[in-house]
Amino acid sequence: MGVYQGEAMIISMKAHASQEEIEAVCARIQESGYRVHTIQGDERVVIGAVGTGDVTECLESLQAMPGVETAVRISAPYKFVSREFKPERSRIRVNGTVVGDSEFVIMAGPCAVESERQILQTAEAVARAGARVLRGGAFKPRTSPYDFQGLELAGLKLLRRAKEETGLDIVTEVMSDGDVELVAEYADILQIGARNMQNFALLKAAGHAGRPVMLKRGMSSTLKELLMSAEYIVAHGNPNVILCERGIRTFETATRNTCDLAGVALLNEVTHLPVIVDPSHATGKRSLVPAVSRAAVAIGADGIIVEVHPQPEKAVSDGAQSLTIPQFEAMVKELAPYIELWKKARAPVSCASA
Ligand code: PEP
Ligand code: MN
Repeated sequence: MGVYQGEAMIISMKAHASQEEIEAVCARIQESGYRVHTIQGDERVVIGAVGTGDVTECLESLQAMPGVETAVRISAPYKFVSREFKPERSRIRVNGTVVGDSEFVIMAGPCAVESERQILQTAEAVARAGARVLRGGAFKPRTSPYDFQGLELAGLKLLRRAKEETGLDIVTEVMSDGDVELVAEYADILQIGARNMQNFALLKAAGHAGRPVMLKRGMSSTLKELLMSAEYIVAHGNPNVILCERGIRTFETATRNTCDLAGVALLNEVTHLPVIVDPSHATGKRSLVPAVSRAAVAIGADGIIVEVHPQPEKAVSDGAQSLTIPQFEAMVKELAPYIELWKKARAPVSCASA
């Protein structure tokens, strides 16, 4: 299939460019073997082009065409997900919730769906406390093949029940390309886990899933690799990707992983995709989750995804990093003033005339 093939250009049309001029530019781009993505801005049309072909020659001829303001090559190895391609942030709509806009989105729930009682109790509590999305794995990637692997389809059905009861949207992990269709029937957001960040067959399938995807950073992956994986999903047809910093492996072992918060700030510079932080997997320790969540707000993340369990000591996975329900409620209250500041920082600067 002729998707992402390495070169990309951005063509900004003049503010008064005519429809004929725009169409002529698109035709010229296509003749050169590129795919066209037109972005209608407030003032001007911007045309993105991705494909193969002689960029230099194509750029030269485009620059000479009527109505063209500038035509430049995108230098980043990732194209569709770069800020060069799209300077304004992407807003990912998940039913009534928008990730990457003016709301700091809290996703919460257990590591794994374990029982009806466990998931419903957690869902009701986190919804009441202010979460917008319920997390919970039905398919679990476990280091040991002898550990609990998830309730699978029965777990997905329980998540649906929880959604019906609470109105929360569902984020849940899909581990293989063959399961994408099934999981997409139940999930509002498909989670691709750290261990699968470079499962390219899965990334391609997620491109056709028709659902937003939350892509977690691999535990030994660079930010560039994370962005290249996101590029796979977008290049295969799905622009709705949320990135998730969940900590990486370093020489430090006192925390489960090392939370790369500076990486979140860097992602915000180089990509238009929303970025959320997972303070649970990033630390492995429930006492650290509130502090890292505050830091996620301060660094400009778009939300957090937090593990919460009604009885963490009995959890089948990740109990040590799961908050109890009262701890989650307290944390959300404590975050509120920080989120207020976040909203002020996020609000578009008004250009009130003097
Ligand atoms: C999870 O969210 O429970 C999980 C398995 O996360 P990660 O892929 O980041 O390890
Ligand atoms: Mn977990």
